[in-house]
Amino acid sequence: MTDRIMNFLRDRRPEGPCLVVDLEVVRENYLRFAKAMPDSRIFYAVKANPAPEILALLAELGSNFDCASVQEIDMALAAGATPNRISFGNTIKKERDVAAAHARGVTMFAVDCEAEVDKVARAAPGARVYCRILCDGEGAEWALSRKFGCEPDMAIDVLSHAHRSGLTAYGVSFHVGSQQKNPRAWDQALESSANIFRTLSYKGIELKMVNLGGGFATRYLEDIPEEGEYGQEINASIRAHFGNRLPETIIEPGRGMVGNAGILKTEVILVSQKAKDDIRWVYLDCGKFNGLAETMDEAIRYPITSSRGGETSPVILAGPTCDSVDVMYEKTPYPLPINLEIGDELFIAGTGAYTTTYASVAFNGFPPLASYVI
Ligand SMILES: *Cc1c(COP(=O)(O)O)cnc(C)c1O
Repeated sequence: MTDRIMNFLRDRRPEGPCLVVDLEVVRENYLRFAKAMPDSRIFYAVKANPAPEILALLAELGSNFDCASVQEIDMALAAGATPNRISFGNTIKKERDVAAAHARGVTMFAVDCEAEVDKVARAAPGARVYCRILCDGEGAEWALSRKFGCEPDMAIDVLSHAHRSGLTAYGVSFHVGSQQKNPRAWDQALESSANIFRTLSYKGIELKMVNLGGGFATRYLEDIPEEGEYGQEINASIRAHFGNRLPETIIEPGRGMVGNAGILKTEVILVSQKAKDDIRWVYLDCGKFNGLAETMDEAIRYPITSSRGGETSPVILAGPTCDSVDVMYEKTPYPLPINLEIGDELFIAGTGAYTTTYASVAFNGFPPLASYVI
């Protein structure tokens, strides 16, 4: 918890669950990424937290933006980004949305199959496209499975098709899985990328860029590598696989840019037991449907603190809604103070990314998660 967030919560005493994001931390994160990977351009993944104040700060610092929809593109533009600083990074787009992005001046699009290339060729003639390749997400806490990307062999066909369709076959992208704590996870995809560059070069198509995606971890309960360690390992892999013909690179941090900048304040609604001497159930006013969606399968384990000190014992943590999936941690019970009481506040750290936008509109009438950016 930063002093600024602590003071804000003490002075303003906002009612109900809320996220407070400290822009100073976002600024430090941006500068750390820029220092750790000075040869890469930064494209902030807007979906992690699109609060206007965050986008405006990053735009001012010189960031570019990875957007997944026309709405996100408009948010980035409203924050002061110019269209040449925006990538339409979703491989699954309606053709009319490609046209809308093109009309706004966006010239860089992600694809992972020929049908998507055809949409871009029709709706954004002359644009640059990069092809996303599959990545197994091994070692990531929030893996991205096979939904996006194609096999590297197919990427060669997809990019050749783009070239023949009058587009600029610009590069290759991948995502090593979110909350990827292994800085060597980029190596294999970089090897595949270099092979694609070489094969296409023989065919007279010179790719220029490798999009290294996101995946940079934020701190939850366990230690994580620093930005510098990611930078070193990734640079070593790029040099090993590309030799003297180094490509342009971009990174798309989402979680690593904003995760540790946010604290979620929540209140204990009930502490109860199902039987005498049984484990305590602690019900909060924040749950899976208003901010804590990433507790799904208990994938992301947030640090949770109480202002009460003293001895702790494990509890099952659940949210306030009438849906039985609204339980955050049951397989791995959380230690909370034995003297925890109804009405106590808890502070959930590392909640700057993937909380506000994952909240439902009004399930059970509960409003979406309130957010303050300071
Ligand atoms: C979600 C996403 C990111 C951000 O990933 P993080 O793990 O949060 O850094 C980057 N690029 C693409 C294409 C994404 O979909």
